[in-house]
Amino acid sequence: MKRKKIINLFVGTNNRGKLREIKDLLSSKIKIYSPYKLKIKSPKETGTTFKENSLIKSKFFSKKTGMICLADDSGLEINALGKKPGIFSSRWAGPTGNFNNAIKKVFRELNNKDKNWKSKKIKARFICSLSICWPNGKNITRSGKIEGFISSKKKGKNGFGYDPIFIPIKRKLTFAQMSPSHKFKIDHRSKAFKKIKNFF
Ligand code: IMP
Repeated sequence: MKRKKIINLFVGTNNRGKLREIKDLLSSKIKIYSPYKLKIKSPKETGTTFKENSLIKSKFFSKKTGMICLADDSGLEINALGKKPGIFSSRWAGPTGNFNNAIKKVFRELNNKDKNWKSKKIKARFICSLSICWPNGKNITRSGKIEGFISSKKKGKNGFGYDPIFIPIKRKLTFAQMSPSHKFKIDHRSKAFKKIKNFF
């Protein structure tokens, strides 16, 4: 049976950077709604995995709006920090979403672990779990990841969140130094999106 394409979609995120990137991945024919205008606060992320938190968000917003909802839960895992910040990536930026502070915390924690970390390759990865929840409760989740390293300095002005300190594997530039179209070709979000794009 031919799958019915989604034409009206609620994107369940209060993160402007994410919303922008998700809009860029979707066809301009899809009418997108987001929590800003409706002043709906995001639910508490009580899950222990990206997948669980993504589903918490898509189920919550779908129930609130009666619409099909797409949600993203994503974050940065740093091996030397025992995979932190992980699902706490946005929480490291505090309630005001200050990523200068979150990045300072990454550098501080790496320093605490190893004073010579800047001369080493600090392995890390971005992970993204996208979920779609329909008003009847049906849902799906798909994930994508990109491996890379932590830069010893913030570099670049594009993107959002931890982009200025993440250098994807086999590249020299951080995500924040790349053009958005270059980032989308390789990043965790677009890899997860490729797995759900036939719904749109
Ligand atoms: P949450 O999924 O809303 O809990 O937040 C995920 C957090 O992970 C974001 O606030 C960013 O800090 C970080 N993050 C996820 N994806 C990216 C990305 O593509 N670039 C930079 N930071 C990201």
